[in-house]
Amino acid sequence: MPDPIRVRAVVLRAQGAPVAVEELLLAPPGPGEVQVRIRASGVCRSDLHVRDGDWPRPVPVVIGHEGAGVVEAVGAGVASPRVGDMVVLSWNAPCLRCGACRGGRPWLCSGGSAATHRLPGGRAPFRDASDGEVLAYLAVGTMAERVVVPAEAAIGVPEIDPAAAALVGCAVSTGVGAVLRTAEVPAGASVVVVGLGGVGLSVLMGAVLACAGPIVVVDRDAAKLALAGALGATAGILAGSDAAETAAAIRDATDGGPDFAFEAVGTTGSAELAISAVRAGGTAVLVGIPAFTERASLAVYPFVDGGRRILGSAYGSTVATRDFPLYARLHREGRLPIERLIEERIPLDGVEAALASLRRGEGARRVAIP
Ligand SMILES: [Zn+2]
Ligand SMILES: [Zn+2]
Repeated sequence: MPDPIRVRAVVLRAQGAPVAVEELLLAPPGPGEVQVRIRASGVCRSDLHVRDGDWPRPVPVVIGHEGAGVVEAVGAGVASPRVGDMVVLSWNAPCLRCGACRGGRPWLCSGGSAATHRLPGGRAPFRDASDGEVLAYLAVGTMAERVVVPAEAAIGVPEIDPAAAALVGCAVSTGVGAVLRTAEVPAGASVVVVGLGGVGLSVLMGAVLACAGPIVVVDRDAAKLALAGALGATAGILAGSDAAETAAAIRDATDGGPDFAFEAVGTTGSAELAISAVRAGGTAVLVGIPAFTERASLAVYPFVDGGRRILGSAYGSTVATRDFPLYARLHREGRLPIERLIEERIPLDGVEAALASLRRGEGARRVAIP
C-alpha cells in the first residue's frame, strides 16, 4: 500500500473558535474508497453552523461539504468513478441498505458514513502532526487539497467549471431540488424566495426552470435583490425589521400570497414569515436549517382553515447519481447560470474570513480553490 501523502486542509479544532489551515497526512484509498484532488470547495452556511457550534459536531474535523475535483486513485473493488473523472462530492453518501435508501429516498439515509464523519470502515481519513485522528465533515471534508471519500460520495459529471461543479454538491442541489423534486412546483405557480444566499439563489434558478411566475424574492441586501432580478426574479422586496410589513408586501406582490414560499435562510423568523405568507392551499417549503435548539410558531387557525402545508426539504430530495449530472448538463447548456452565484474565489487561508462574511450576510457564494 502506498504511503500517506501530505495535504493542506482547513481544520476546526474547537467549535466556536477560528478554523486554520494545517498540514495533515492523508492515507491512500482503501476498498470502496476513492482519492479526489479537490479543485473547488464552496463556503456554505452549514460550515458556519459547525464552526460557530450551532450544531454539535465532533472535532477535530476538516470542514467543507460542497466540493468538486478529479479522481486520482481508486481503492479495491471500485467500478465507478474512474481515475481522471470529474466528480462532484455528495455530502450524504447513501448506505444503500437502510429503509430510506431501499425506498428510493437516499437523501433521508442515516446509515451512511456522513453521520460518523469517518470512512465506511470506521477510520478517520486524516492524521495530524502528532498522529491524532482528524475527521472529515460528513465524510467528505472538502476544504483540503486532496480527500479520500466513499466511492458512493463521488459522482461523475460532465466537465464544467470546477467552482460551478462544487456548488452542484450542496447549494444548487438543495435549492433547485427543493423546487423541482421536493415541492414539484408546477408551471405558472407563484413563488416567493426568502433569503438570497447560495441556496436561495438556487431556489430562484429552480423556479425559473419550472416556469413559475411571478417569482418574488425577499432579502435585506439590495445588491442581492438586483442579482436575483438578473437571474429571473420578477419582483424584489427589501426586508426591514418589521416582519408584518414584509409579509404584507409579499401578499401585495402575489395577489394575496404565493402558492409556494421557500425559506432559504435558516432562521425561525424567516420560517415564520414563509409560513404566514402563503395563500390558502399554498405550501411553505423550509429549506434552511437553524441552530439545533430553535423553535418556530404559527397561527394554527388560519393554517388549518386555509388548508396550507409545510414541507421540510432535506438536500432538495436529491438522488445524486440522477441529479448531479443533470444540473451540470443544464449549466453547460446555459440554463442554470451557477457562475452568477460565485462572489469570490479564495485560497484555503481565506476560509475563516469568508465564514465571517457569511455570518454578516454579505455577498453570494465564496469558493475556496486549494
Ligand atoms: Zn451546504
Ligand atoms: Zn441508507
